[in-house]
Amino acid sequence: MTVTIDTAATSTVVAADIDYAPLRAQLTGTLHTPDEPEYEALVSPWNLAEPMRPAAVVGVRTAEDVVAAVRFAREHGMTAGVQATGHGAKAGIAGHLLVATRGLDEVTVHAEGWARVGSGVKWARVIEAAAPYGLAPLNGSTSDVGVVGYTTGGGVGPLTRTFGLAADRVRAFEVVTGDGEFRRVTPTEHPDLFWSLRGGKGATGIVTAVEFDMVHLPTFYGGAIYFDAVDAAAVVDRWRAWSADLPELGTTSFAIFQLPEIPDVPPPLAGRMTIGVRLAWTGDPAEGARLLDRMRAVAPVVLDDAMLRPYTEVDHVHADPVDPMPVADPATLLRDFPAEAAERLLALAGHGSDSPQVLVEVRQVGGAYGREAEHANAFSHRAARYSVLAVGLAFDPLSAARSEEHAQEIFAALDDWATGGVWPNFGPPQDGATARRAYDPDTLARLAAVVRKYDPDGVLELGTYITASQN
Ligand SMILES: Cc1cc2nc3c(=O)[nH]c(=O)nc-3n(C[C@H](O)[C@H](O)[C@H](O)COP(=O)(O)OP(=O)(O)OC[C@H]3O[C@@H](n4cnc5c(N)ncnc54)[C@H](O)[C@@H]3O)c2cc1C
Repeated sequence: MTVTIDTAATSTVVAADIDYAPLRAQLTGTLHTPDEPEYEALVSPWNLAEPMRPAAVVGVRTAEDVVAAVRFAREHGMTAGVQATGHGAKAGIAGHLLVATRGLDEVTVHAEGWARVGSGVKWARVIEAAAPYGLAPLNGSTSDVGVVGYTTGGGVGPLTRTFGLAADRVRAFEVVTGDGEFRRVTPTEHPDLFWSLRGGKGATGIVTAVEFDMVHLPTFYGGAIYFDAVDAAAVVDRWRAWSADLPELGTTSFAIFQLPEIPDVPPPLAGRMTIGVRLAWTGDPAEGARLLDRMRAVAPVVLDDAMLRPYTEVDHVHADPVDPMPVADPATLLRDFPAEAAERLLALAGHGSDSPQVLVEVRQVGGAYGREAEHANAFSHRAARYSVLAVGLAFDPLSAARSEEHAQEIFAALDDWATGGVWPNFGPPQDGATARRAYDPDTLARLAAVVRKYDPDGVLELGTYITASQN
């Protein structure tokens, strides 16, 4: 899809009078400033509404490059950010020196059930490499997202009720901390960092590689069934009761879509409002099909895309867009989703509501998601039962503001059931207030202590928001 963007937040971070030649001389990779054509390609994020404008970008190829970049930033009083794909881009987290990790592209799958992956790798490559062994990683709704960005934010995906968070399965990280040191981090080596990197995103270090366990799942029953939005009230009503009884072998969500008439969108879903019910069922496929038949019976199905399929087709569950686009995508978490919450949501985002959102999604969590991992981590939202996400197009400041304001109206209507938090992956810290939504007070205080210990000069941009939350 071709898009044009007109956004207000395009000013480049200024770091005057810096001579980058000594850093360039140390790098296996590249360094580019805004006057060079390569700069745009390296800084350009998936979310085009969040331009990353660092004073310079380092396209790293080795862990040593990351060490050199962080030490250089520290010596010159600069801050450093990190980006793999830009799915989680926020203009305020680029730092002066952005470390672009796409060149860290190792993928090694071990037949015993674990993988080692460089921090520039997207889930799609891991899924493909694991499939011949019948293995599946705990990726998110789209395999286009980066493994490390997703995992360090917790990582809540289509199998979460059965197998928990991606962060719960990490064995080890290799990471460069803000003091410029390279460290291997496991439950027994630097356990405070191991705790912080599973939930704390890039606040306490720039990960260069991660090692994690996978699950045995060559196939699953799942995908989505879609209805016209005129039937949304009946569909959501049944979904609430149906999902409440769903065994932990299944993870489900529903989403109200308004998709454009473009070649990538199946005709039954294009140019109208629809509602999709998603299921990823890890048990007996026939049982999964029988369970979903109860949802199929609610109303006429306009598109049925649920079936027994190889795990390599897991992206069919959520059917997220892949092409870069400008989006406003705020989210919230709920303790409960009773009938009144459903009514309020549909009044603002359902049939006849004039909603500007491309997607409004409600995910049910619970099950293994709600249980602490073997090694505690910095993810604060085990008690949440539902996540609500609104995604609107943000082609210009006006459409961005309209999407954001409408999303906030939805969240205000659901406030009676809100936990007050948001997953770090759906609301990364950009200041003290957003940090306080991403983490509970104890977790935040502990994260801030880890930041101060390993990054005493406040080099990592995200870490500065964590410590700011304590002021
Ligand atoms: C279409 C779409 C679908 C999504 N689906 C899900 C989902 O199902 N579940 C879910 O939990 N999240 C989901 N997300 C959110 C996503 O997981 C986060 O935005 C995540 O941060 C993306 O990581 P990235 O590396 O792709 O993005 P980037 O924008 O490159 O990175 C985002 C952040 O991740 C951290 N990070 C990245 N690389 C490193 C590194 N090497 N070391 C330390 N920190 C690093 C940093 O804090 C960085 O600012 C989705 C996002 C999109 C746009």
